[in-house]
Amino acid sequence: MRVVVIGGGAIGAAVALFLRREAGTAVEVVVVEPDPGLTQASSGRSASSIRQQFSQPLNVRLSQFGLDVVSHATEWLGVDGEAVDLGLVDAGYLFVATEAGAPALRTQHTAATGAGADVSLLSPDALAQRCPWLRTDDLALATLGESGEGWFDGPALARALARKARALGACWHRGRVTGFDRRGDRLVAALTDDGARLEADAFVCAAGPWSGAVGRLAGVEVPVHARRRTVFVFDCPTALPPTPLVVDPAGVWFRSEGRGFIGGWSPGPGDDDPDDLPIDDPDLAQFEDRLWPALAHRVPAFEALRRRSAWAGYYEVHPLDHNALVGPHPALPNLVLACGFSGHGLQHAPATGRGVAEWLLHGAYRSLDLSPLGCERLRTGHALEERAII
Ligand SMILES: Cc1cc2nc3c(=O)[nH]c(=O)nc-3n(C[C@H](O)[C@H](O)[C@H](O)COP(=O)(O)OP(=O)(O)OC[C@H]3O[C@@H](n4cnc5c(N)ncnc54)[C@H](O)[C@@H]3O)c2cc1C
Repeated sequence: MRVVVIGGGAIGAAVALFLRREAGTAVEVVVVEPDPGLTQASSGRSASSIRQQFSQPLNVRLSQFGLDVVSHATEWLGVDGEAVDLGLVDAGYLFVATEAGAPALRTQHTAATGAGADVSLLSPDALAQRCPWLRTDDLALATLGESGEGWFDGPALARALARKARALGACWHRGRVTGFDRRGDRLVAALTDDGARLEADAFVCAAGPWSGAVGRLAGVEVPVHARRRTVFVFDCPTALPPTPLVVDPAGVWFRSEGRGFIGGWSPGPGDDDPDDLPIDDPDLAQFEDRLWPALAHRVPAFEALRRRSAWAGYYEVHPLDHNALVGPHPALPNLVLACGFSGHGLQHAPATGRGVAEWLLHGAYRSLDLSPLGCERLRTGHALEERAII
């Protein structure tokens, strides 16, 4: 069997790794990637955080496997006996809610703990005791991950997945897919900008925010949008203890990063930017307009914070339900999608790679059933809504 993977970010690299891990030389894998340093890829520009607090139990389970790979990186990703340390900081996610958001947060807590997540439900008083630096008088409820949530070195995960995939025999082709040879409802070959024709039995679309464009090249709709998200780096002159990743009802988040902090604003429905805004041009006005007022409200010491720098990357948004599309495209069965992760794809890369490999090799999922993420949703419009979107 021969598989061409389009895109060599964390998802494409994980697919390649698990194909070779499962099937060895019985599967030939070529990953096509124009930018092997991942300078534009979401995998190189994310906030590199991992959580178990999702409203969909499947997303919790995807993260749990991601956590296993990140926390036992040497076993999963080591090459030639070398140790791999992805710098996991197990500091938790803290979701806080006002009266209006409390029922949804309670439901999210039930979903996450039902799937095995270690998350406490906290009253405002209990929260104030644990996080005295946080304003709690306008809050009704909070949930705090007690273990298995935090952050890690995301670009290093993407690199380690690719390195291991190569060590297992997957090949990287430096180039961009610019077209396909399509016969009826089958793709026969991917055509690249360096003139190559890469024939295969199956093609995996792991092009992250550019997956919609890859779909168009194949003549099918892949409803994934490249939405710019800016991450700000800032310091606080008043010493604060290390914080978890805090998700605030004002639509902002922040967390410790070294001796400072990073944070950002997540647009709500109707607030979002158009597609494809330039990511080398972060939206700096957002800091004063959106982020700082909300941060200073939640953490009084942040009134005096100092912005240091910022970067931006693309969320690959699947607007139907903010959940990934994983599986064969209904109109083109040998184009397998692995895209649309809507801001949580780095932590889900290992489980997605494993699942796509199982599906391609065995025609069924063996370890974790990813069929709820299947692309029949494109035809039926049936949403698997993820409500915990950051
Ligand atoms: C600001 C920000 C913060 C985030 N925070 C988190 C977080 O905390 N936790 C988390 O889990 N996720 C987070 N994410 C999301 C996460 O980064 C992505 O979901 C994940 O990296 C997607 O990986 P990918 O491999 O699918 O896509 P990418 O990493 O974008 O890789 C896709 C690759 O496809 C290649 N490509 C594109 N077009 C073609 C073509 N025609 N031919 C061949 N190759 C092509 C590109 O060059 C690119 O390298 C964040 C994202 C952003 C932008």
